[in-house]
Amino acid sequence: MGGYFSELFSGTKSLIDGMWVTLKEFPKRPVTLNYPHQSVPMYRRYRGHIELIPGDEGGTNCVVCGMCERACPSNCITITSEKPEGSKKKVLTGYRLDFTTCSLCGSCVESCNFNAIRFSNEYNLASTRKEDFIFDLMARLKEQQS
Ligand code: SF4
Ligand code: SF4
Repeated sequence: MGGYFSELFSGTKSLIDGMWVTLKEFPKRPVTLNYPHQSVPMYRRYRGHIELIPGDEGGTNCVVCGMCERACPSNCITITSEKPEGSKKKVLTGYRLDFTTCSLCGSCVESCNFNAIRFSNEYNLASTRKEDFIFDLMARLKEQQS
């Protein structure tokens, strides 16, 4: 009989303790989000894959110096360019990033003296296909600008 009342007492106490915790937390602001329907703005120093920075007059700030391509220890970056007729400067035509081997080391961003690339805030990446992590950064920039 004593065991019965002891169990009844501890069960009731546990229930009240639990309700008390719930009541205390109830008026507080939620600390979780209804992901994926909601998301938090990413931190300023977050390192997502690199992206091209939009230029002041449209396009990009890239001068096709190739420094980022050479600085990458994993050969993730492939730049293509052309020299329009009558122009002395090359124009960027493609910027391909193989994110499958990128270690987010930052060497490419550090090596760019023209403020043409930066880390993106992209964190929502998931796929079972390797090809989905080969990014055409020119197309991405155009999409963002449209
Ligand atoms: S962050 Fe590092 S590994 Fe990634 S593309 Fe830039 S240089 Fe290459
Ligand atoms: S280092 Fe900067 S300017 Fe040079 S090719 Fe890379 S992104 Fe373009």
